[in-house]
Amino acid sequence: MAFDYDLFVIGGGSGGVRAARIAAADHGAKVALAEEYRMGGTCVIRGCVPKKLMVFASGFPGAVADARAYGWDAQIGAFDWAAFRKSLDAELNRLEAAYRANLDRAGVEIFDTRATLRDAHTVALQDGREITARHILIATGGAPVVPELWRDSGCMTSNEVFVMEALPERLLIVGGGYIASEFACIFNGLGVKTTQFYRGAQILRGFDEEARALIASEMVANGVDLQFGTDIASMQRTGDEISVTTREGHAARFDAVLLATGRAPNTAGLGLEGLGITLAANGAIPVDRYSQSAIPSIFAVGDVTDRANLTPVAIREGHAFADTVFGGTPRHFDHSLIPTAIFTQPEFGTVGLSEEEASARGPVRIYCASFRPMHSLFAGRNSRSLMKLVVCDTTDRVLGCHVVADHAGEMIQLAGVAVSMGATKADFDKTLAVHPTMAEELVTMRTATRIVGA
Ligand code: NDP
Repeated sequence: MAFDYDLFVIGGGSGGVRAARIAAADHGAKVALAEEYRMGGTCVIRGCVPKKLMVFASGFPGAVADARAYGWDAQIGAFDWAAFRKSLDAELNRLEAAYRANLDRAGVEIFDTRATLRDAHTVALQDGREITARHILIATGGAPVVPELWRDSGCMTSNEVFVMEALPERLLIVGGGYIASEFACIFNGLGVKTTQFYRGAQILRGFDEEARALIASEMVANGVDLQFGTDIASMQRTGDEISVTTREGHAARFDAVLLATGRAPNTAGLGLEGLGITLAANGAIPVDRYSQSAIPSIFAVGDVTDRANLTPVAIREGHAFADTVFGGTPRHFDHSLIPTAIFTQPEFGTVGLSEEEASARGPVRIYCASFRPMHSLFAGRNSRSLMKLVVCDTTDRVLGCHVVADHAGEMIQLAGVAVSMGATKADFDKTLAVHPTMAEELVTMRTATRIVGA
């Protein structure tokens, strides 16, 4: 049977765009891609990129305060949200255009419309056109989840936060994950009175406990009103104000509420179930390690598969898919070791196992340095940084590396190379310290802080 295309990609985010470009440019496939919103997906349009620019913006008041301690006669004025947003919009437009240009250059045909599945080889565009393809890749990403109770409450999610008309004076953020914690730090830095409600006992569930505890205490020291074991019981909007009561009986008023209560795969209405693909409870498309679904011609990569919901992971999955299906070299991405950063203030960089995960598997040596870095100490601040290695007591292999410090994301990218190569503690010790830096602690910790695990 002759198909219109070799590959039809649904979704123009990180994973879909990479797969389309590699299939077309590197492997000569005839490729089309449909995107219903803006090219670039969550990462570029309403995720990593605008978030990181807001992280930068929020760091200036602290930097200016430090500058005074270093002898500068420095004062910071007011933050102009409208001006920042204008620049942000221009930057996102530039990036979106670059994504389009790259697809064009690769010879990928773009359809600026929603596409859904008709059968194993056919997609339907919104205008009713039907297009056939030998392979279909679903890369539709994820979307914020709002708890049922608060669906019509007018609260923001991370989708709306970048397009607010004005900064609120008092903001409530609900959740304790990446998004809630990053935005709490961002808005606090921008001068917004920021409260964060988390229903559990400690934010950033699943990460190394010692690191989570330090991040939370630094956030509180920096001015975030972080409340644990707290859940909303009722929300009442009166004029411009939102009155919130908690299940614990406290009441407070805010100008805006941001719900950062998780994300779910974007599969509603795609037509997958009709084709016989049974979705996971949260809507994720089950795939094998080659990103192939239960229907051999249909593949899925990125957040829509809910494996590890990170841009670089989606890119690797998309690339491996293209090489496997169109390049004749079966490849899959190994999800077992993922270096990543959380852009709280302080930043958190992490790769490999937490102390808790590693010690549940066997005996581990913990090397940990918690100290006041010279930059902030000189500025009269008491903030602390943490460098931690989790080392297998039997093999000496470094199983996990956790850094809480300014620029921890940059550090963990490099430490990630060593950990991915299987470096041992002896390899770290062999490496000469770069002095004076914070990261030198990673190669100068001689004595184990403790030995834990079975
Ligand atoms: P997470 O799943 O990480 O966190 C959701 C938070 O909301 C949890 O603290 C959860 O609590 C809480 N929650 C869930 N439901 C409710 C409810 N009904 N009432 C109150 N609280 C609730 O999701 P995020 O949205 O923060 O992030 C989604 C994903 O996006 C991340 O997993 C990550 O992969 C990616 N991401 C990555 C970033 C990065 O790399 N820096 C930045 C931002 C996002 P509990 O812990 O009790 O379940």
